[in-house]
Amino acid sequence: MQSPKQKNSSRRKKRSRKGKGKSLVLSLEEVKDKVIWLLEEANRLIREDYELAQEYASRAKRIQMRTRIKFPSQWKKRFCKHCKIFLYPGVNCQVRLSSTNKVIAIKCSECNKYTRIPYYHKTEGYDERFNQ
Ligand SMILES: [Zn+2]
Repeated sequence: MQSPKQKNSSRRKKRSRKGKGKSLVLSLEEVKDKVIWLLEEANRLIREDYELAQEYASRAKRIQMRTRIKFPSQWKKRFCKHCKIFLYPGVNCQVRLSSTNKVIAIKCSECNKYTRIPYYHKTEGYDERFNQ
């Protein structure tokens, strides 16, 4: 009896699991921590290493989009709405206040477009009645 050697067509399964059996599922808190860490690093590095800072920030942005968590408000406005780069005032964007429109106008120097953020937004925990 001859058993014809079957060629094992071992197709490589593309799995991003790294063989240690450690699950890649992080809790939402851990993801948030990671994202904030990435953003803080990007913020710290942008003057020294612009490329690396952008890389960190885009990683944070990717995680944020995939997991649909929300950036804390101070980080939300640090991205250009148009080309999605990480902004740092004085490095790659100009920030102006417009008192007539009550907006913060952030001009991105990559795409020369404005991102406008209204600044009369109610912040969390702010109680209007308190001010009367
Ligand atoms: Zn831009």
